[in-house]
Amino acid sequence: MKPTVIFGFDMETDIGSWTPFYKGLQKGTPRILSVLDKHKITATFFFVGDAAGQYPKIVKMADRAGHEVGCHTLYHETIGDELFSIPGIKPMLPEECFHRIEVAAKMVNKVLGKRTTSFRAPRLWGSTAMLNALEELGFTADASYPLYFYEKRLAPYHPSRKDWTKEGNMKILEIPNFADMTIKSKDEYGRDRDQWPLFRTKGATALMKHIDNMLAFYERKKLPPVFCFYMHPWEFYEMPKGLIHFGEGAVMPDPFIVKNCGKLAVRELDKFITLLKKRGVEFCSCRDLTRKF
Ligand SMILES: [Zn+2]
Repeated sequence: MKPTVIFGFDMETDIGSWTPFYKGLQKGTPRILSVLDKHKITATFFFVGDAAGQYPKIVKMADRAGHEVGCHTLYHETIGDELFSIPGIKPMLPEECFHRIEVAAKMVNKVLGKRTTSFRAPRLWGSTAMLNALEELGFTADASYPLYFYEKRLAPYHPSRKDWTKEGNMKILEIPNFADMTIKSKDEYGRDRDQWPLFRTKGATALMKHIDNMLAFYERKKLPPVFCFYMHPWEFYEMPKGLIHFGEGAVMPDPFIVKNCGKLAVRELDKFITLLKKRGVEFCSCRDLTRKF
């Protein structure tokens, strides 16, 4: 199998859960689309229901450009099992999953004029309850599995109803997110093996070293090389540095979170695609991949 790459853009507020603004969604999305168009490649754009409702034009822009529109919860609430603790961020209860995803999908579908069938959980915090809800709601792909954390599933798989991290007989396809499993992790959760946000903080060439490591690793293991990435529109628009004031106070994200957001990230994305193409990879959306597995 030819190496396959999926780009998933998580269409949410600026700096993920840290602000209520949609500057990146409005201004960063056209920049992403023009890079993808230049290279004639297809991606998946996972919209938060709230973002779709507030900016239908952006949803239609991605759809008309031939990309897949997926869903990324209602308000970027964390929905699955907590992987590590973050102040003020606790996942919802398993029994709340179904209704949340149902409402979020309805909002995306209404704007899109057709049914969305691919999903990604904020922060890649997935769960068995989430997968069961997705299956029941007719989703056919989920791109939430964080390889850096669970370390086990190296290729797309159909999960078990009892444990979403294990293989089973669900119809939905689970797509693991790329991590370099050939390097020794110095982080207690293995986060330094994850791809994000290397293309932006260290650059495309640095990220390619990890891709090459894994291409060799997959060849040795005789596994189908399917590499899924997550990025965000706010990374492609200049983000404020330092304290960001709103509501009843201010937040200050860690410097790496906003480092090189804007034009530099756009250039690195362009370079990243060029380098991937040199390795002979094929690009597709999550929906496209479900036809192969
Ligand atoms: Zn997100």
